[in-house]
Amino acid sequence: MGHSQAAAANAPGLSRFGEFFHTIDGKPESSGAHFDVINPSTGQPFARCPDASRAQLDSAVAAARRAFVPWRELSFAQRREYLLKLGQALKESIEELAPLLTSEQGKPLARAREELNRAVAQFDLLSRIEIKPEVLRDDAQGRTELHYRPLGVVGAITPWNVPIVLAVPKITQALYVGDTVVVKPSPYTPLTTLKLGELAQRVLPPGVLNVVAGGNDLGQWITEHPGIDKISFTGSVATGKRVLASAAGTLKRVTLELGGNDAAIVLDDVKPAQVAPRLFQAAFVNSGQVCMAIKRLYVHDSIYDAMCDELAALARKARVGDGFDPDVTMGPVQNKMQYERVLGILEDTRQTGARILTGGQARPGDGYFIEPTIVADIAEGTRLVDEEPFGPVLPVIRYTDVDDAIRRANDTRFGLGGSIWTNDLERGEALASRLEAGTTWVNQHVGTEPGVPFGGCKESGLGREYSELGLKGYMEAQVVKVARAG
Ligand code: NAD
Repeated sequence: MGHSQAAAANAPGLSRFGEFFHTIDGKPESSGAHFDVINPSTGQPFARCPDASRAQLDSAVAAARRAFVPWRELSFAQRREYLLKLGQALKESIEELAPLLTSEQGKPLARAREELNRAVAQFDLLSRIEIKPEVLRDDAQGRTELHYRPLGVVGAITPWNVPIVLAVPKITQALYVGDTVVVKPSPYTPLTTLKLGELAQRVLPPGVLNVVAGGNDLGQWITEHPGIDKISFTGSVATGKRVLASAAGTLKRVTLELGGNDAAIVLDDVKPAQVAPRLFQAAFVNSGQVCMAIKRLYVHDSIYDAMCDELAALARKARVGDGFDPDVTMGPVQNKMQYERVLGILEDTRQTGARILTGGQARPGDGYFIEPTIVADIAEGTRLVDEEPFGPVLPVIRYTDVDDAIRRANDTRFGLGGSIWTNDLERGEALASRLEAGTTWVNQHVGTEPGVPFGGCKESGLGREYSELGLKGYMEAQVVKVARAG
């Protein structure tokens, strides 16, 4: 038995996790139809997930509308108490849920625990931000205030790369401001989110949080549904555009967190050995399947070869394999379609004559494993540089003039994040502010904070999540004008 087969044998079987249910109106519900959920480390189904019907979506939306009436009347402090209870229930379930998250998503068990811990923190941190009415005018004629009201029912649609850390902020922000929620996780990774719904049955009033699993058609029904007031969507640019078009039918409010093709620009004053580990981490985190991972690395000509050597050495050291093997540092690509897409980009890269320094191919055997890949002597005009590969592949691009590097970094329809790496912090900040992206960093890349708005420019998104700005996106502005009697 090979190493990964041994790890797979350690993976929990279906009986360990039991049956999975939607959460509709505070109760577990199954469906007539089911679909298989595949463990990406084996390529084999390991669980069956209920597939919600349109009628079940209608009941979830109806329950959320009923629950909205009393929920919106609670104070922020009362809703925060409920959220903390759900956060506590999640915290107590981490040891049970981490193996489930590893089984469906593929990430190493330690990273699954980390994702769940980060989600627990979001319950607390996002519900600490206060939204107060603003006084716009107060004089002899009267008083004008700007209030923010709960919007109604939020449809939250999530992808497969970090399912819990992306579902929880949508849930937390919406519930905290007084909205109620229907969540639909990705059909590739629905199970841990369904379990979160089951936890909510114990601590939240019925209907406040509904979780329904299903395919892309269920996502489409959510975007069209007349009982839903806002869509908070995280996923690809192509689907985001469909969501926006479909939501226009009922003029829903829409927040879109979409793909990125983030550039990092390394100036000539850094020591490659010093920054390479951080660059590597920011590019290969979650096997490169992070919206704001570094996807194009621009390195100054004078340190280019040394940087390529450092990165290739780190890639060779990474241990790719089944997330249940404790020595593994990098899991598989999450699904077959994405795996084939990344392999297609690698094939295209070979045709361009670029130098593949390490990796460049699938690992033989079961599962969707691709060796971490560093590509040198590559430039714009190739699929690897121009598209979002969303896998463990990093193109290292040579530049000589930093203004030219900034221009090339900005020459894209994406605009999620970008970074500058330098010892000259002032210069770094000035250059970072010229990157056309929702978040720009100096000497770091990747990461969100509850108090800091996050979102994309251009085709990387619409609106912001997190912070007061994000919370207001889950609310409706209302002006209240009071004329002084006179
Ligand atoms: P995807 O767009 O294929 O799917 C995302 C979700 O949308 C899934 O739940 C899917 O079932 C649903 N869906 C599909 N078609 C739909 C439709 N017509 N209407 C409504 N819903 C529909 O994305 P993915 O492949 O699961 O995720 C990877 C993408 O997500 C990458 O592009 C990545 O960059 C992006 N992403 C962005 C962020 C961010 O915050 N900006 C974070 C993580 C991932």
